[in-house]
Amino acid sequence: MAEEKTAICIVDHQVHMAYDGSFLSNLETGTRNLIKADYPKAKVTDFICDHHLLKYQLTRVDGMINSDMKQTKKINRRLTKAMQSDDYDIVDVNDSLKKSLTFGQRVSDAVARFGGSWGFIFIFIFVLVAWMIVNALSLFGVHFDPYPFILLNLALSCIAAIQAPIIMMSQNRAADRDRMNSENDYHVNLKSEHELRILHAKLDNLTQNELPHNLEIQKLQIQILGQIRNELDDLQANQELQNTSKSDHQTRE
Ligand SMILES: [Zn+2]
Repeated sequence: MAEEKTAICIVDHQVHMAYDGSFLSNLETGTRNLIKADYPKAKVTDFICDHHLLKYQLTRVDGMINSDMKQTKKINRRLTKAMQSDDYDIVDVNDSLKKSLTFGQRVSDAVARFGGSWGFIFIFIFVLVAWMIVNALSLFGVHFDPYPFILLNLALSCIAAIQAPIIMMSQNRAADRDRMNSENDYHVNLKSEHELRILHAKLDNLTQNELPHNLEIQKLQIQILGQIRNELDDLQANQELQNTSKSDHQTRE
């Protein structure tokens, strides 16, 4: 049988076959750091047997899972807090404006609405034309405002003078509505931006920590499976050796 390479385990200083363990240089940095924490003098050329390595690999897996869970919990807590924080109540603009309207404001709104419609223009033209025809032709014997309709002029001036401030009042209220709307928008935007920021942090944590950790855990699991397979093979070989020696013994008897 060819001379097999042997090595000495750093933990219990027993001699092992080289394939029954790993050199520190072949280990993951995380696992290696755990071993170095227990054996500060360990070098990368040192050897550790599978049996003792398993403990460090399991500790490493445990540590990664715990730190990931802690980080995820922390981010989730921040997100929940951000979503629950409603330091600003969204105002129903129409509702609150409607409730706060005085009688005068409601009248001014109605006048402005009517003054800005086609119906108003048609009625107005009809009244003007009727006024002029009645007075010019003296229909029904009525001619209280003969040509050039000075009284009509006065009436029109009065209507224009009153209508202007009424429309302005109504416009002020439209500006109020816009201001409240934009205030609502501002606060909603602020909140969504905050939530988006936390979601970004969550995604970053997922791609930068959890995913690489998962891959490393899978790698460690495969290594541990390989170690178990090796030990099984050893056991089987021993069993066969025992069986053959037993049957040798029986045939000799
Ligand atoms: Zn050992």
